[in-house]
Amino acid sequence: MEFVGYCVRCRKQQNIKQGRLEKTAKGRPIAKGPCPECSTTVTRFLSEKQGKA
Ligand SMILES: [Zn+2]
Repeated sequence: MEFVGYCVRCRKQQNIKQGRLEKTAKGRPIAKGPCPECSTTVTRFLSEKQGKA
């Protein structure tokens, strides 16, 4: 899946194209994937609705 997340190393928003859905310990859906520029793992919290998509 694709998502936009904030990369802390690049210090800007990046379009992550190889993201995957995961869940936090509390069951909240998050998207996670490598930054296209620096390969740092970028995460983004999703709404419950998005997490089910
Ligand atoms: Zn980056």
